[in-house]
Amino acid sequence: MKCSKRSLSLVALTATMLLAACGDEDATTEKQTSSQETSKQQVEKQKTEVTTEKKVEEKRDAGGYIIDQKPATEVKKVNGIVIANKRYPMPGDYAPGESKEARTAFEKLNAFAKKSGYTFNAFSTYRSYERQTVLYENYKAKDGQKAADRYSARPGFSEHQTGLAFDIGDANVPNDFASNRFGETEAGKWLAENAHKYGFIMRYPNDKEDVTGYMYESWHFRYVGVDIATKIYNDGSTLEEYLGMEG
Ligand SMILES: [Zn+2]
Repeated sequence: MKCSKRSLSLVALTATMLLAACGDEDATTEKQTSSQETSKQQVEKQKTEVTTEKKVEEKRDAGGYIIDQKPATEVKKVNGIVIANKRYPMPGDYAPGESKEARTAFEKLNAFAKKSGYTFNAFSTYRSYERQTVLYENYKAKDGQKAADRYSARPGFSEHQTGLAFDIGDANVPNDFASNRFGETEAGKWLAENAHKYGFIMRYPNDKEDVTGYMYESWHFRYVGVDIATKIYNDGSTLEEYLGMEG
């Protein structure tokens, strides 16, 4: 009974706050009282969120996604690094476009690659939530959901929506774009060995599907900056392992 009374007063308080937020300047006194209560309310809210997070972590569907996960309201960042994986989706309206910093780094990488005789093409970089919806639905229709979940992200979960993921291939061999044949070529091997020098990591390495949630993709690179990329490359790890995050 105590609880329901408390909930009611919270509802009333929320209503007051909403009114204050939408209302005119006369509501100043009311606002002050509300803001004193706000921190209490926030603590309650945080408690609830932590409990909910723990509970849902255990239940994943066949594709590796948390069952009945609520849509994201903000982008997950750790130490300033944007995380996008099956555990941490992005809001549908998160639309930063292609990262300029990542594009500049890619151009430098390409200039360096030319000295060794390679020319790369970033054939897919930023993808909007809407674009990913179309792609994923097509793959699902073609290969079935279970197979599609291993290589294509559901809308809101694609790292391409961050603007920091670059799908890279040999510009002279477009037939190998988005194929692991690329990883077997001299160009693919060169990229795997050198991308970190320009801030890119191979995001879904071989034998790391249990960590990243995705099968090996020799073409999918993620910009994280030179320092972190070098560390991850030297450790032979993944972004999830580096940050101690769930995939
Ligand atoms: Zn990709």
